[in-house]
Amino acid sequence: MHTVICWFRNDLRLADNAVFTRACGIATQMLPVYCHAPDANVVTQWGFVRMDAPRQHWRRSTVADLSRHLRALGSDLAELHGRPQDVLAIAARAVGATTIVCELIAAPEEEAEVEGLRAAGFTVEPIWQSSMLAPAELPFAPEQLPAVFTAFREAVERARILPAVPLPIPAKIPPLPELSLLTPEILKAPLLPPLRTDTRSSFPYHTTEFSGGAAAANAHLAQYFARKLAHSYKATRNGLSGADYSSKFSPWLATGALSARTAYAALKRFEAEYGANEGSYWLWFELLWRDYFRLLHLKHGRKLYAASGLSSLPKRAHDAGRFLKWCNAMTGEPLVDAAMRELAATGYLSNRLRQIVAGYLLHELCGDWRAGAAWFEAQLIDYDVYSNQGNWLYIAGRGSDPRGGRRFNLHKQASLYDADGRYRALWNQPVVLSCLPEGRHIES
Ligand code: FAD
Repeated sequence: MHTVICWFRNDLRLADNAVFTRACGIATQMLPVYCHAPDANVVTQWGFVRMDAPRQHWRRSTVADLSRHLRALGSDLAELHGRPQDVLAIAARAVGATTIVCELIAAPEEEAEVEGLRAAGFTVEPIWQSSMLAPAELPFAPEQLPAVFTAFREAVERARILPAVPLPIPAKIPPLPELSLLTPEILKAPLLPPLRTDTRSSFPYHTTEFSGGAAAANAHLAQYFARKLAHSYKATRNGLSGADYSSKFSPWLATGALSARTAYAALKRFEAEYGANEGSYWLWFELLWRDYFRLLHLKHGRKLYAASGLSSLPKRAHDAGRFLKWCNAMTGEPLVDAAMRELAATGYLSNRLRQIVAGYLLHELCGDWRAGAAWFEAQLIDYDVYSNQGNWLYIAGRGSDPRGGRRFNLHKQASLYDADGRYRALWNQPVVLSCLPEGRHIES
């Protein structure tokens, strides 16, 4: 009897899941497992919780969808609560598993989880699968990744490297071990903060269409291309508000409910049927950015977490007062404050506004990029360790930006992207939240 744990991390889907396929292939008994973060409600060194309500709800609904899919196929999902090093080890011993198959996540905390399990005597098989392009297919080794994005993109396009065809759901799913062997203390769910709903949201995750999990992800992908929105993507992607100005794939990509290869395959089917244009090309271009930040982690690892990042710039002193004003939408800059209200109320923000508020914190308030990245980590439902670190470092001029950072002229940005002031007016209303640093409320 070979009992295997299939540990789902940021790959919460069954289709195109190399981890799930591998575990199904080698196990005679398989326990699918998800570990809920034990520190979601813990206040960090920056003065706020690790994972705020929108992101907690988003992940919960994604996990519920995965669990439903597994049950429909005769399996199940054990939802554990605690550090994987602890609770997974307890669960594995209880069901007699010595092998754990999981997604390889090249970030320090996630690597420590794997190391902890190895130190406890388990055979852990991490499999890389979150990028659109397989690192082994690239025309350079990860350590030779070009220092800037454009050189990377050109090398990929010149060599005509394409994503692999998505994997099907395995035809045979091994039976479960005896679930009653799992002890109740590792199954105990902590309280979920109240759901926030706001009808102004560009990604209303409380509605069926925008709910977490593969079912909604696939439905969203299908409607996005059926409505031919990819053709206008390049022209609309700098929009600030609404469901259609950008693809809105990111929350599903971040949890792995949608794989980047599946998104790419849908894009190619769309181009085959309706024709390619600059808009559809630009979606590939942006998905390449996502890959680039993943590969940057494979190349630089922990360096990306240092205050200086990849640069030799000095560390910035963290000014808690100014930072709190930024978090609380009290900077006095109407566009920045409007965006910070939207972020806290909905867990989503357009790419343009992410750049603007990050640039403001870093270059006008002289903030430490790591504090801003931590605030985004707590708030964003599409939080993704690779894209978040990479983009913050880029704007700070401490990452892969050849131009040494991004400083925006706020008045120019407002006149370019919110000329009629509609966005600022939309988010001019206060949002009252209980979980902001020092329990403050956002006021207009
Ligand atoms: P679209 O514009 O439709 O783009 C399609 C896809 O391309 C996205 O879903 C995403 O996967 C990828 N993509 C687009 N722009 C970028 C980019 N700049 N970097 C990496 N991938 C990109 N994205 C995250 O998914 N998680 C994060 O934690 C995150 N943090 C960010 C922090 C900052 C400071 C900034 C400036 C950007 C951050 N982004 C992050 C990137 C980007 O803002 C979002 O991916 C995008 O806004 C998501 O909306 P969409 O799916 O509609 O994107």
